[in-house]
Amino acid sequence: MGTPLTLEFLGGAREVGRSAILLDETLLLDFGMASGNPPQFPIGDVDPDAVVVSHGHLDHVGSIPALLSGDARPPVHWTQPTADLAMVLTRDTLTLHGGSYDCPFTEAELARLTQVSVTHDYSEPFDAAGYEVTFFDAGHIPGSAHVLIETPDGTRLLYTGDFHTEDQQLLAGTTARPDADVVICESTYADTTRPPRAEIERAFVESLEQTLWEGGTVVVPAFGIGRTQEVLCLCAEHDLPCYVDGMGKRVTDLLARPRNRPFLRDPNRLRRAKASARFVDGRNGQRKRIAEQNTVIVTTSGMLHGGPAMTYVPAIRTNPVNKIALTGYQVEGTPGRDLLETGSGEIDGRMLRVSAQVEQYDLSAHADRNGIESFLEPYRESRLFVTHGDRCEAFATTLRADGFDASAPSVGETVTLE
Ligand SMILES: [Zn+2]
Repeated sequence: MGTPLTLEFLGGAREVGRSAILLDETLLLDFGMASGNPPQFPIGDVDPDAVVVSHGHLDHVGSIPALLSGDARPPVHWTQPTADLAMVLTRDTLTLHGGSYDCPFTEAELARLTQVSVTHDYSEPFDAAGYEVTFFDAGHIPGSAHVLIETPDGTRLLYTGDFHTEDQQLLAGTTARPDADVVICESTYADTTRPPRAEIERAFVESLEQTLWEGGTVVVPAFGIGRTQEVLCLCAEHDLPCYVDGMGKRVTDLLARPRNRPFLRDPNRLRRAKASARFVDGRNGQRKRIAEQNTVIVTTSGMLHGGPAMTYVPAIRTNPVNKIALTGYQVEGTPGRDLLETGSGEIDGRMLRVSAQVEQYDLSAHADRNGIESFLEPYRESRLFVTHGDRCEAFATTLRADGFDASAPSVGETVTLE
């Protein structure tokens, strides 16, 4: 390598949430926020020349409008789906929390986002702050990208963003392994090994079919971005009647738009899913009536923090034929986790006992340990930084024992690469 590079880890290191990495004080990779009480934002004051964004999840895009205060107008480079999702998420943050500490930007700053947005396709290099940058399909959610950055003197840095190595309904697993001297790798599920995706999907669908056959109602709490559409695709493929509610409705519409179709594995699959799902508007007690039907209801929030699930869960909870089929990891202390472990949980401020069945299916959009290790195999000669996980240091230690040059920087750490 020639000129030293500096990497500042401003968030999302040894933690999940508020991802942000600053390269040479000029190029910012992601600028997220960790939702929670209180929410958390990347540390420090940054004034980048350009921003490059890996994908449209809150923990990667949530704070971006805050970069547009005063005269600052750094271009924001991303794919079209990422731009669309970022607008939905940041608009939501402003609507819910504008004017409070929980929202790090104003209406004026958010309005500037469309002016600085620059969209790119995969495998088409572009310039950002004097670096050559290329996106590769990361297989995580529609539009998600691995970000390859080449410096003027030829050093190649790969920021994986979040990724999946297995095929999902909407996306094929990542196959891109561009040469890189330095790799910054996510490790969300480095502690998990799961059965093949197809097996999990089969068990999930069979469970839904069982409850419908017995005359019950299934509530499927799901994140609005990615997970909701995955479940809708499965319902359409297996002819299961389903409603969709919450943020997932808007996101389904967005992802099905012609401009975002090139980012899907099979656009017709999502089109069919959208056509067969019934969209809930929630007017005139519609939700209570739907909850009495022999149907599947896909709704936010994924961990039962809020959203229309707060109406559906109380409505179906007393009948043991009914089911709540959770679709992902449930963070400790969330109502979803409590329901799984104790059969009771705090739903919309009330402690409720649930007689309906509660099950969990790991329809994650992240690679598991085997997936991460297979992804990293070509990078044995590279310098690795493990980020975006709860046990980054432990995973870095495991990788070192396996011969990799791996470490796990912490938030606030600056690494100089000579
Ligand atoms: Zn993500």
